Amino acid sequence: MTDRIDTDILIIGGGLAGLALTARMAAEGLDVLCVEAGPAPSPDTAHRDQRTTAILMPGVDTLRHSGAWDAIEPDAQPLHGMKIVDCGGADTTPRDEAMFDAAEAGNDAFGWNVRNGPTRLALAAHIGGQDTARLIADTRIDHWIARQDKVLATLSDGTRVTARLLVGADGRGSVVRERSGIGLRKWGYAQKALAARVEHTRPHEGVSIEMHHVGGPLTFAPLPPDESGDRSGLVWMNPDAEADRLAALDDDAFLEELNRRSHGVYGTITAAAPRALWPATTQIATGLTAMRTVLVAEAAHAFPPIGAQGFNLSLRDVETLARLCASADDPGAARMLSDYTRKRTPDILARTAGVDLLNRSVRSDLRPVRDIRRAGLSILGRTPPLRRLAMKLGMGQ
Ligand SMILES: Cc1cc2nc3c(=O)[nH]c(=O)nc-3n(C[C@H](O)[C@H](O)[C@H](O)COP(=O)(O)OP(=O)(O)OC[C@H]3O[C@@H](n4cnc5c(N)ncnc54)[C@H](O)[C@@H]3O)c2cc1C
Repeated sequence: MTDRIDTDILIIGGGLAGLALTARMAAEGLDVLCVEAGPAPSPDTAHRDQRTTAILMPGVDTLRHSGAWDAIEPDAQPLHGMKIVDCGGADTTPRDEAMFDAAEAGNDAFGWNVRNGPTRLALAAHIGGQDTARLIADTRIDHWIARQDKVLATLSDGTRVTARLLVGADGRGSVVRERSGIGLRKWGYAQKALAARVEHTRPHEGVSIEMHHVGGPLTFAPLPPDESGDRSGLVWMNPDAEADRLAALDDDAFLEELNRRSHGVYGTITAAAPRALWPATTQIATGLTAMRTVLVAEAAHAFPPIGAQGFNLSLRDVETLARLCASADDPGAARMLSDYTRKRTPDILARTAGVDLLNRSVRSDLRPVRDIRRAGLSILGRTPPLRRLAMKLGMGQ
């Protein structure tokens, strides 16, 4: 017999954003079903996404409000400081740096760095314990009709779902976006990000380091130490050919290159594995809503991993949508959809433009651009009020 589910909210996609939204909406008392095409997060699959994500304080607050933070925190590293190092000279030697100290902005930490796999696992476990939330894995949305009063959907396992709101949290290739007729603007930089977990001899002391090399930034984001010692997440952006070359090196040759480029900022890097490449592109949906349908996170906006902004922007979508739905009589009504668009569009456009500009200026090999960037960094490093303003803006406040 075909299953039938009647719910307030049907969320398509159980990546970090879809799961965070499921938990956050359940905490508001909404009835939520999340449908994920891939396997359910489990200890066996948690290692598949080796990326780490720096979640800044406003995003951590959203996860706290969702009730899932207590399960995430034991595996998270507080970020007490953030150092930006300019290496854009004739060789790759550091020329200038600016240190951003959370204490200077009146906080103990800017946020926390988490491993993606264990975080999805913690979110899924939390959702499993909620009466009003449910995750169905290994299942896709097959087709749906959005009517004035509800959405009628059929899943790939035959389940029929009736919901008041359909949410596309299904990532960059969102079928919810495409089939709702929402357009997409997309552009690339001929760059890729290489992600890996690294072990190093010098303690990170909770400070992340972003080294601005010609071609792209080399970023280390600290993780809690384990029995093997101090570890961090690495994101190393380079032009396509260089990124492909680095990814194909054997372990010893890769470590040699990484140690040469990182100039001992965390001592010697002794391990960097496994490595995965992520193409650097920017894309932005031309709208955020269609009838009884809304887009969040990478289904709506995505950009290169520079400055720890992507998932943090998505968590602001999550917080806004959860609050609007909770306070609406009908969470899929036209009024709720237009409020969401009005509240989220300026932040999404500003953040996307800002990251695009930052990435272009960091990767540039034009001497004047590199020197202007260095001068800007130097002024920031020496001017406390400007530094505090930059910290506030970086945190999305
Ligand atoms: C190297 C790297 C480092 C990063 N570091 C940071 C950082 O430090 N800080 C930060 O804020 N951001 C960071 N980001 C960005 C962050 O990782 C992403 O924003 C986030 O992981 C994307 O989450 P998402 O849930 O929007 O999309 P996805 O992870 O793509 O999730 C979409 C989900 O939808 C599912 N799906 C797709 N189609 C269907 C369908 N038809 N039916 C059902 N399910 C479907 C997919 O299986 C997938 O699980 C980084 C990104 C990269 C590449």
